[in-house]
Amino acid sequence: MLKREKKDMITVDKKLIEHNEFHIPFYKQRREKNSCMLVEKFNSNIKDGLIEFEDADCLCGHNQFYLLTSVDKHSVLHKTVMCQRCGLLQTNPHYSHDALRDFLESNIYKNLYYGGSYENYAYEKYNIFTGMYIYEDLKKFININQDTKVLEIGSAAGWNLLPFIDKKAKVLGIDYNNRFVEIGKSIGINLEHKTVYELEEKFDIIIINKMFSIILEPLNVLKKVKELLNPNGLLYLNVLSNERFDFNRIHNIRLYYFTIHSLNYFVSHCEFVRIRYGRHNKDYSFHIFKHGNKPQASDKFFRQNLRRSMRSIRYFNLKYKLKLFFDS
Ligand SMILES: [Zn+2]
Repeated sequence: MLKREKKDMITVDKKLIEHNEFHIPFYKQRREKNSCMLVEKFNSNIKDGLIEFEDADCLCGHNQFYLLTSVDKHSVLHKTVMCQRCGLLQTNPHYSHDALRDFLESNIYKNLYYGGSYENYAYEKYNIFTGMYIYEDLKKFININQDTKVLEIGSAAGWNLLPFIDKKAKVLGIDYNNRFVEIGKSIGINLEHKTVYELEEKFDIIIINKMFSIILEPLNVLKKVKELLNPNGLLYLNVLSNERFDFNRIHNIRLYYFTIHSLNYFVSHCEFVRIRYGRHNKDYSFHIFKHGNKPQASDKFFRQNLRRSMRSIRYFNLKYKLKLFFDS
């Protein structure tokens, strides 16, 4: 396991992306009036200290960062930084556990992320094809039938579980958002409003689909997943792939911006071995892990990943300068 270093004050020195647009809220130009007012109110709550933030070390244990941006794509005040040792992009400081939960259950979250009601969003997703790619990726490595136990962490209203239910597998979905959980339960999907730490039964498949980057303590969750996963079980992660820095992906609920390389490094240090990864489209990559202990060497990874992250930011800066030049 990775060891956390002794806690010192977090330092964020040197801005790697300098243009004001990425450091000052710009909602007046960008957003519709309604969501603009919500963001403005939320930002003033942040400024007034009504929303609780916490400094956190990087997952590699380091605590010195370069600053990238000070607002997110919705203009919410939010710092995105790069670890000076391993190059992992992340949010810092980030919401406390309670502040994150409040935000995920708030109107501003619903408005910015779903645009309408949870019910409409869920019913659009209720289709066996929504989660079919997860089933297709996994069935090459494991028989899925009435004896298979499947857990999805962050299942929302459970739409990804439909192909597994179709094969008679025993499924459980857990989510923070009780509205989604109630919608899924109302149509008979086995969902619970709880955290992974409250579970004790074992599973053959554990899915974290597009949610891994919003988990506050992903290494602790992986430790728990390791306990819950049967010896021949599989862990399936689908994450936004951040090989190139893209400001449109900077959202205030995202905590970590993994790449194909960094995801493998951190998960392999929690005693998993990656057996397959790939992409379904340019945005997301999937990763299938099983139990095993072959962690990647740290020093080499830190060096290479920092270089890759720096290159990606240089490319972003250059592209942005060219855009300004041609727009003027
Ligand atoms: Zn780091």
